[in-house]
This record gives sequence, structure tokens and C-alpha cells, in this order.
Amino acid sequence: MDTRYPRSLTDAIVYFSDYEHCRRFMVEMRWPDGIIRCPTCNSEKVTYLANQRRWKCYSKHLRPQFTLKIGTIFEDSPIGLEKWLPAMWLLANCKIGISSYELADALEVTQKTAWFMLQRLRLAMQDDTPDKMSGEIEADETFIGGLARFMHKAKKAKITGTDGMGKVAVMGLLERHAGDEMSRVRATVLRNVRRASLHANIRENVESGSEMFTDALLSYAGLDPEYAHNVIDHAEKYAEGRVHVNGIENFWSLLKRRLKGTYIAIEPYHLFRYIDERVYRFNNRKVSSALRFIGVAKSVTGRRLTYKDLIDQGPHSPQPLPA
Ligand SMILES: [Zn+2]
Repeated sequence: MDTRYPRSLTDAIVYFSDYEHCRRFMVEMRWPDGIIRCPTCNSEKVTYLANQRRWKCYSKHLRPQFTLKIGTIFEDSPIGLEKWLPAMWLLANCKIGISSYELADALEVTQKTAWFMLQRLRLAMQDDTPDKMSGEIEADETFIGGLARFMHKAKKAKITGTDGMGKVAVMGLLERHAGDEMSRVRATVLRNVRRASLHANIRENVESGSEMFTDALLSYAGLDPEYAHNVIDHAEKYAEGRVHVNGIENFWSLLKRRLKGTYIAIEPYHLFRYIDERVYRFNNRKVSSALRFIGVAKSVTGRRLTYKDLIDQGPHSPQPLPA
């Protein structure tokens, strides 16, 4: 890692207040081999136009000029990198989360802008590694929310994918690792916790032949013989040797404590983004703040989230509440 990079939030604010630093940093994140390529045609024949903070591609196509933001989560954002990068630092490294109100105050932007920035940053934190988990895997499901109680009837009716009380079903998988290697989590919002949903999620994310650990919920029955299935019946005890789901339950308790403290009113539709954020920090809990920040910065490319995408999710989508 480049030693010039910031090591604290204060560092990040000072360092990125200089556009040249933002540029050098983002170039290294996007083009680690140092060769800047046109995001449209991938050509290396490009020139930097310093005055305009743009590159020009010499191939013949539409939009031959590009900025650092094109093709990333920052595309079309009027907010400068000198605000985006400290915001990224904050979200990558906060312990209990940050609300759009806090971020709005810190960056001197509107709450709506801050909310949108946080959602885009959460997209960069989304785990899209295609590999399946293997070895020893704990599986557990939970319900999050319960906001419907506080909502207007008409709004409540619009919410889908819940248990009818506004709670959202979430499935968690934890791949155990001992010692210095970190156990890692994957969490997915599901329509329900019926057998078909849980089994499909496990098959999608876990190599067959792995060892599964679950509680006695009947929905998990039948994982044998594809998986070696170990069951702990919580009516009797919480652990028997290796047979427990304490790792994933620890993750749930961290997640819930945090959602309760910070995000007053998360619409069920947006819940998965907050979960992605929490999973990212959990899976990177043993690395330095600087590396957690760089991990997000390296994932901004090739991901887009427009405001329309966020609020226009079809007839069942509620409008976002501030959170
Ligand atoms: Zn080009």
C-alpha cells in the first residue's frame, strides 16, 4: 500500500481536499497497473486534459472524453471526490453506522444527497465474489424490522417480502475459519423462511459436501446427503462441541444492535443495502482502517446506482424514508 494514503478520517479530509491527491488515488484504484484505459472502448490511447480534469480517447465513438467518475458509483454525481472519499472513509470504518443526517452535517450537503451517497457507497461494499463457501458453514435465519406498526395502513399494504408485520426475513451463512483467518458472512434478504427458500440459498452459496450447522428448524431438514448436516436443538442446549450456530448469531446481534441505534426507519426494500454495509465491515474486521477504505475504493468501478433505480422499484416499492 502506498504510504501517502491517509490513515485516519482527519488525514483523509486533509489529503483529499487537494484534487491532485483524489486523482492519483482514484487512478491507482481503477487502473492498478498504471495504464489508463477508456471506459467505453478500453483503448490505452488517451490523453489527460488537466484543465478539464478529463481524459480524451482517440478512438471514434460517442463520449470520447471521460472523467474519473464515469463508469463508477460516482457517475453523474455533482458532489466532488473531495467529499465522496472522506464519506467513503466514514462508512467503511464507522463502528455503529452513520445516518444521512450526520453525513449531511459533516459534508455540508442536503440530507437527501447524503442518503443517496450512502446508498451508492453501500453498493460498492456489496460482496460480489462468485466463489461458494466451503468447509464448516453455520446457517441461520432471522427477522429484522417490525416497522409496519408505525406506518400508515396504505403504506403498510405496499410492503412485500415481509411476514406481514413489516419484518423482513434474512438468511445468514458463516464460513468458519480459525486463527488469523477471518470467518466470513453472507447475508441475503429472502421472501420467507420456508424450506424451499432456505435450501435454494444454501445451494447457491455453499459447495456441496460442506459441513452445515443449523438449529432444529424443520425448514433445514433434508440438507443431507448433499451436505453433512449437524443440528443443535436450542430447546436442549446452545452448543455441543463444534455443533452450534454461535458465530452467525453473534453477527445477528451486532447487526440488530446497530440497525436499532442508527437507522430509525429503514424501508424493508432498502434493508439489504444496510446489511451489505454491515457484512463488509464484519468480513474486514481484522484489517486496518486504511485497508477497509481501500477495499471499498477498489470496488467503485463497474457499479452504478441511479436515483431512479433507488426510488423507482415498481408498484410495491415504498418511497425511501430518511435514515
Ligand atoms: Zn474510447
